[in-house]
Amino acid sequence: MDDTGTNSVETSSEEALSSDLVKENQSTSPGRSVDARCVQCDECSKLRLIPTEELYEEIRSRFIEDPFVCSKLPNVSCDDPGDIEDYDSTWTWAFDKPNLPKTPPGFKKRLVLRKNYSKMDCYYDAPNGKRLRSKAEVSRFLDKHPEYKKDISPSDFSFFSPKIMEDTNP
Ligand SMILES: [Zn+2]
Repeated sequence: MDDTGTNSVETSSEEALSSDLVKENQSTSPGRSVDARCVQCDECSKLRLIPTEELYEEIRSRFIEDPFVCSKLPNVSCDDPGDIEDYDSTWTWAFDKPNLPKTPPGFKKRLVLRKNYSKMDCYYDAPNGKRLRSKAEVSRFLDKHPEYKKDISPSDFSFFSPKIMEDTNP
């Protein structure tokens, strides 16, 4: 876990502070997404599974100014054993970036693992079902649907794709 859990405020993907997990499964169907999300405690360095995507996004959105500690989870403290001992190829791991914007209400962010494990593709599904694959598409969408503009701007979207750790590929 060399790249994680530091106090660094670096925001490059190399210094990602929180992580997404893609659980290994035997299915050959393409398009696997994120099965579980975990973050590392700033105090004890243990890995904690975060139960919902919403909570994960909340923690990630303020990760630099408000580092994660175990006590942020209900009934959990640094004295409790970690949820995951270490990362290995039981799971395919992808490292996320801190302080990404929370997904705007009504939108759904999708991260889909390519079949060859090379990378995850990132896109958003808009409330009307329109799929947005880039900031340019977000801008065009907002121009076409100005009703969203009072609450949402292109900076609320990030197309950063978590970096797959090659040594955890099957
Ligand atoms: Zn802790």
